Amino acid sequence: MAERQLIQQVLMNGRICTLVIEEGRITEIGTADLLPEPGDSVWNANGLLLLPAFRDAHVHLDKAFPTDRWISRKPVSSIFEQFKLEKELLAGCKDRRKELAIQTLEAMLASGTVEARVHVDIDPDLGLSHLELMLQLKEQYASRMAIELVAFPQQGLLRSHSTPYIREALRMGADLVGGVDPAGVDRNVERSLATMFELAAEFDKRIDLHLHDPGHLGVYTIEKMLDYTAEASMQGKVTVSHAYGLGEVDPSVVAELGSRMAAAELDLTTSVPFDTAMPPVPLLAKQGVKISLATDHTGLDAWTPYGNPDILRRGRLLAEKYIWNDDLRMSSVFEWMSRGSLELQAGDAADFILVEALNVPHALATMAQRQLVCKAGVPVAGSLLQENGRRAAWMNIPKGERMADDYND
Ligand SMILES: [Zn+2]
Repeated sequence: MAERQLIQQVLMNGRICTLVIEEGRITEIGTADLLPEPGDSVWNANGLLLLPAFRDAHVHLDKAFPTDRWISRKPVSSIFEQFKLEKELLAGCKDRRKELAIQTLEAMLASGTVEARVHVDIDPDLGLSHLELMLQLKEQYASRMAIELVAFPQQGLLRSHSTPYIREALRMGADLVGGVDPAGVDRNVERSLATMFELAAEFDKRIDLHLHDPGHLGVYTIEKMLDYTAEASMQGKVTVSHAYGLGEVDPSVVAELGSRMAAAELDLTTSVPFDTAMPPVPLLAKQGVKISLATDHTGLDAWTPYGNPDILRRGRLLAEKYIWNDDLRMSSVFEWMSRGSLELQAGDAADFILVEALNVPHALATMAQRQLVCKAGVPVAGSLLQENGRRAAWMNIPKGERMADDYND
């Protein structure tokens, strides 16, 4: 029989529980007095709060600048100048790509992210070099983080003549077709989207589009995406990232588009930017659109010096932006940073984070320290984790010093 792992004194679903894990899944959420059986392995969480592990729905691992030297940026006046600048600046740290990607992955894990959708730059100049690296890292990190790879033509799918490279990326194992601004960058909404949907159909892949185009141009692009989604029967397989334009048009337009997006299961990913317009998340969520939060920028890069790998920071920003000061709405943010609901149930994968917090809104408000991050019941990161002996990880983690009674209401 497989070994059972009992985590005692876990604060979850509003009470102190005993969590039972078998073969990577939660098999029971017992009361605080649930006794171990012979052969069970036991660890005492001493009242740490359990949160569902985080999912970062949009991130780049091939854009980070080194942290040990400053790379200066200069102002740019168009997205094309920005593309060019990024290429120049990244070329200077080309040899450190792998090291920097690993640094980012470790920082994401430490903050509780065990699932990530990673956009990978592909163009005729880079070829598939970044994808090769990311496929390698995806495999290397598989037991700690589930990574999906988006074949992303950062310089424009049509504009940079990247279609054959994206096709090859899909053949090599990329999970999604990426794209950027079919109007603003590719200058041909129909052909750009048609190419993306054809590639997706050819390889039976999903789609995730970067859409920075403003106002009604953004709305029009999403309408077209909806048409293509219906035509290709790709409901539930298409995501629009950013969609800044939805923050610049009348709410009635967003409401109508939102209900169409919900019907087509066209998801929206946002990094909660405050340096630009952003989609009205509460309105779209009300219309039934699936929302996912993302870091997009994880540190210093060519787009911003203000990135951060901690997705909880994005969730907090969202709650602050909409002045969600009540417990219910503060807690709701966590559903958009994880795969499931806030309340884990028996049968769920044992992907969770243990944090030092009194309850869920408190964890958001205080950006609670991630003590232990677990994937499939195995600790994979967090300040308590000792790097040695991950196999017997629970045995190697010191127990907390605080008493569970401190956390009772
Ligand atoms: Zn991006």
